[in-house]
Amino acid sequence: MKLYNSLSRTLEDFAPLEPGHVRMYNCGPTVYNDQHIGNYRTFAFADTLRRWLEYKGLRVTQVINITDVGHLTQEHLDSGEDKVMVKARELGWTAEQVAGHFMERYFQDRRILFFQEPAHWTRATRYVPEMIALVKRLLEKGAAYAVGGNVYFDVARFPGYGKLSGNSLETLKAGARIEINPEKRNPADFALWKTDAKHLMQWDAPWGRGFPGWHIECSAMSMKHLGETFDLHTGGEDNIFPHHECEIAQSEAATGKPFVKVWLHARHLLWDGEKISKSKGNVVLVQQLLDKGYSPAEIRYVLVSTRYRQQVNFSWDLFDGARPALRKLAGFKARLAEAAAKTDGGKAPDLEAVRAEFEARMDDDLDVAGALGVMHGFAGQGNAALEGGLAGKGARETLALLDRFDGVFALLGGGEERPPDEVLRLGGERVAARKAKDWKAADAAREGIQALGWAVEDTKDGIKYRRL
Ligand code: AMP
Ligand code: ZN
Repeated sequence: MKLYNSLSRTLEDFAPLEPGHVRMYNCGPTVYNDQHIGNYRTFAFADTLRRWLEYKGLRVTQVINITDVGHLTQEHLDSGEDKVMVKARELGWTAEQVAGHFMERYFQDRRILFFQEPAHWTRATRYVPEMIALVKRLLEKGAAYAVGGNVYFDVARFPGYGKLSGNSLETLKAGARIEINPEKRNPADFALWKTDAKHLMQWDAPWGRGFPGWHIECSAMSMKHLGETFDLHTGGEDNIFPHHECEIAQSEAATGKPFVKVWLHARHLLWDGEKISKSKGNVVLVQQLLDKGYSPAEIRYVLVSTRYRQQVNFSWDLFDGARPALRKLAGFKARLAEAAAKTDGGKAPDLEAVRAEFEARMDDDLDVAGALGVMHGFAGQGNAALEGGLAGKGARETLALLDRFDGVFALLGGGEERPPDEVLRLGGERVAARKAKDWKAADAAREGIQALGWAVEDTKDGIKYRRL
């Protein structure tokens, strides 16, 4: 499988560091407002990537972060204000209420759009001790310095600074003239920890009470769950600089090891040829699309059908086009299901050839448009075969392949959703408790599962899970 690594700027053959197991971190939302369709296109890319790796038989440990502190309104400078705090002031809410509210809205959209649950959600405010420990490590190594309660990363001490974005300290120096922060040794130095008496969220740290910088959060949280070197790190193209450049610098300066093997960045989405922005009034939300009558599957179809590395231009027309495309695939599936129950007959398409073509498209840096094209071609061939009398075993095999493909795109209700690890663990406890006739423990496990948003059903084939 080939993936385009932003770090090497080439297509690379991908193999996980640990055979059979991929460790992946996706930069997630900053929860100070609703995520728009552009954000979801970046998140859909991460979801498809995971689904594709799982299709290939790899186990994926996926971590997605929730930024609820430290992301400033001017992320290139130190003078910005915390986005969550600005919103809290605007609404008259606490920072916790703002983050909780938009996080819930985000989770709801993800459920509607059928995104898979990661192994870990890392919410920044819940990982401050890990961030403090990492800052401490950088101070001890001399890669960072504290000034009046603030801690900065010393970019001059990390020779690799700029390797992801292509920025050099010289070009950055020239561009940074507008911001003069006398505390910094170098204008490109960035804050790991900041003090601000007005900030609503503050924690005690050895060098002063304050809050973490946005970049250190992702380094601390990803390494906590995935180790000091892991396989994949994704984000939108705007994350390359400064966010990911700074993550690399801090992580590698602290550990002395390569941080991430492959960096993947989704190009931004345009709406009718323009950048999505509040000031232009072209921010489109999932709810608006639903209100206009588009189904979750239609929205998902549009989100997953263009390659992540391509600049895409969305418009209402694109969403209109999803309906007939999906109808064709869903109709094919329905006809196959009907024919599958009949006695054997006819001749199935060359399933092996179709499968190989689909896999070749996806292995080519997630050419999703090509892979969906293969599915449509498959529907054409399959419908012709059905007209020629395909039924029974051949239809069942054809249907199984269509479902397998749909596990990657999740458009036709084929791929069953895998519950998060904690739900599966509790499910195991429930099965063991029921076997031991320990009904109290079995009930407790079920309640634990429900608290995580899932329902269980005990069937003769074992335990079944359903999202509540
Ligand atoms: P934020 O909530 O601003 O931290 O953004 C969440 C994710 O969405 C990040 O990975 C961004 O790179 C990505 N993103 C932001 N705007 C767009 C856009 N117009 N198109 C695609 N992805 C975007
Ligand atoms: Zn991040």
